[in-house]
Amino acid sequence: MKTSLYSRWNLLKNLNLISRTQWRLTMIYTGILMLFLILFMVIVYFLLYGVIVSSQEDQLKKLVDQEVTVIKQKLIKGKTPSIQNFVMLSDEQFFYYVVDAKGNLLTGDELYHHLRPKLYQELEGWNPDPKEIRYENLDISYFVPWKEDPNKRNIDLMMAGRKIYKGNQFIGILYVGKSISNRVELFDWLLNIFAILLVFFSFVAFFISYFMSKRAMSPIIKSYMKQREFAADASHELRTPLSVILSSINALEMEKPLQEDEFSNSVLSNMKYEVKRMIKLVGDLLTLARSDAENTKLRKEVFDLHELSKKVVHSVETLADEKRITLKLNAPAKLFVYGNRARLDQLLYILLENAIKYSPEEAEVKLELTLKNEDKNKMLVILVEDQGIGIKPEERERIFERFYRTDKSRSKQLGGHGLGLAIAKWIVESHSGWIHVEGKSGKGSVFTIKIPQ
Ligand code: ADP
Repeated sequence: MKTSLYSRWNLLKNLNLISRTQWRLTMIYTGILMLFLILFMVIVYFLLYGVIVSSQEDQLKKLVDQEVTVIKQKLIKGKTPSIQNFVMLSDEQFFYYVVDAKGNLLTGDELYHHLRPKLYQELEGWNPDPKEIRYENLDISYFVPWKEDPNKRNIDLMMAGRKIYKGNQFIGILYVGKSISNRVELFDWLLNIFAILLVFFSFVAFFISYFMSKRAMSPIIKSYMKQREFAADASHELRTPLSVILSSINALEMEKPLQEDEFSNSVLSNMKYEVKRMIKLVGDLLTLARSDAENTKLRKEVFDLHELSKKVVHSVETLADEKRITLKLNAPAKLFVYGNRARLDQLLYILLENAIKYSPEEAEVKLELTLKNEDKNKMLVILVEDQGIGIKPEERERIFERFYRTDKSRSKQLGGHGLGLAIAKWIVESHSGWIHVEGKSGKGSVFTIKIPQ
């Protein structure tokens, strides 16, 4: 049965391991792409910040240097050290103040006169170093009734100062301030743009990663498909020779001379036991390989499950009798359900066979079948209860895995390969139901199955 790669991919989507690996790869790729993007944004942000800040600081220092020469000449000549005639106050020069050696204000001006007390308070006592730049964020809502922009309640200032000397004599200080609110706004804006870009590119990165992980998984899926086909083909091919061997053993057992020879008899009976085990294993493997490959749904019909369960109970009676185990079947006289008859038969058989295998002699195994209404949905509830060795809580999930056995030697002794419950789980899930197990170690187990009707 050949299917296109696309339909195979769709089929495999549901396989846990592959889809989980693909998601993990997608997440890793997305993470790496996002990391590079964030790194790129951080570098751009800080580079821009560094360049703009250092150029603004240089400009301010140059401005102070130019102005301090004019002020110094006027101070030495004893004139009012004003620079109003050649300085237009703006954001570039928000204020300037000149104080004498004692800190008394000689002259100065500012863009908004209401701010003078606040600015003066900020500068008071500052003994500036020639390289020093000070930053201040002033709350101006109280001082300036801001009409241009009601949201603008703060102003960011960059300030520098120079001490003025007449020879060696300290005669005053010039303070100059520049508004850098535009720069702060620019970087706030840049941050917002980066945040939007980050959200946008995280979606782009996710889709790219999804595409890349799909490509990376493609060879793995192909080899997985081949392996699966191999498992199905190999189990199918093995069935015929095994059946031939079994019928040959049966024929040999009929031979009189061999029947009379004790050694031949025991070899034949061992061979028969092992071949039967192998036939069962190959059958189970084929079921699971087909369950993996199956993209057609199970054919379902309405039938009486009570009738079917009586047959299954009857088929395990010999097994139960060997251990003098009592089998109890509890079900309504007629129990019409919707499902695949052959698979539900197999499911009941697996659970009952396990319940008997893992129970001590003279124990009791109960099969209960009911139709219940749960949240307005009709449910078929199957309970299989035993008084056997029980299953530890940490193993209750794992027993449904392929080839998982809680006690390998005991299970092997009992003829198990660890595939029964994996098949049971597949049957339940292909009926859109779920299976789980409860019980205490040493006091038996209860397998509960719920199948929507
Ligand atoms: P096996 O062929 O080994 O029985 P299964 O898939 O049917 O494989 O079961 C897996 C394992 O789960 C078993 O090896 C056994 O350890 C445990 N198990 C299954 N059914 C029961 C049960 N009724 N009581 C205790 N252990 C159980």
